[in-house]
Amino acid sequence: MDLERLQRTLDDAGQPAFRAGQVWSWAARGAAGYEAMTDVPAALRAQLAESVPFSTLTVVEEAHARDGTVKTLFHTADGRAVEAVLMRYRDGRRSLCLSSQSGCPLTCTFCATGAMKFGRNLTASEILDQALHFRRIEDVDHVVFMGMGEPMMNLDHVLAACERLPDLGVTHRRTAISTVGWIPGIDRLAKTEMPIRLALSLHAADDALRSQIMPVNDRYPLADVLEACRRFHAAKRRLVFVEYVMLAGVNDRYEQAVALAKVLDPKVFKVNLIPYNPTGSYDGSSPDAINAFRAVLEEHGLRATVRLTRGRDIAAACGQLAAAGSS
Ligand code: SAH
Repeated sequence: MDLERLQRTLDDAGQPAFRAGQVWSWAARGAAGYEAMTDVPAALRAQLAESVPFSTLTVVEEAHARDGTVKTLFHTADGRAVEAVLMRYRDGRRSLCLSSQSGCPLTCTFCATGAMKFGRNLTASEILDQALHFRRIEDVDHVVFMGMGEPMMNLDHVLAACERLPDLGVTHRRTAISTVGWIPGIDRLAKTEMPIRLALSLHAADDALRSQIMPVNDRYPLADVLEACRRFHAAKRRLVFVEYVMLAGVNDRYEQAVALAKVLDPKVFKVNLIPYNPTGSYDGSSPDAINAFRAVLEEHGLRATVRLTRGRDIAAACGQLAAAGSS
């Protein structure tokens, strides 16, 4: 729900100061609507239902993958497309992948979102409403900002949303913001009180290749980005997770694994290799190639895991969010 509008409406109605918090805490715990808020006066509930839409987003489509993953396409009030994903793991973990922008202005060559037209930054309420949608279905405990958009280009709203995630059951320690390496954002995140994890989409260990597949590297080159991550680690004492999407014949050679191990200090970084999810432009590395690449990193003392792919059959996996068929 639009929390500023809620506050204004309550103020105009002469409601006591605690009312906004009361309404929010119901919503954060997964209430289905205002009518469920039994300690809010019935007349006020009716008035809120009239004047403050329960969500800033409307559900346009929902897809269910065989592995339990759910992808939801929403529209904002002005018709912008936003997707978010609920991932269910066997150990009981429930992780939400949230979008920070409708579309993305960066044009990473392997990512479907980059090929879609950029819409705009989402507000904090629009970010929270993605999470609240799934919170109404079940308890959730992790959030990753790995959906559409570059969260560091919309950090005010992303952090404002993060402030409230613990009310939904997601602690800051279980929240991660992923970035292409937007240095001002990394430095700002290092200064916040919230112990949010940083993830870096690296994908190449040399500038020439990285610029070719991620044009943003021309603006923020590799060495500067890694330096910013080291500053983050020095300030927060938390490992930075490096995401590396495995593209056959592009970035998966033996020498490239050695080069990656060379630029990443194992005291600062841990690597997450991501099997490429088809978006048209590349071939993914084979499982054998991924394991071999991982073995090289580990031989060099760098911890590396392979990301479990979720929701590929409904195009809900990393890099596949593109709101097909909508604005
Ligand atoms: N803009 C931020 C947040 C999006 S995160 C960022 O790039 O970090 C989405 C993650 O999925 C990123 O690590 C991205 O590089 C990765 N990704 C993009 N396209 C992919 C694809 N086709 N297959 C697998 N991972 C992909």
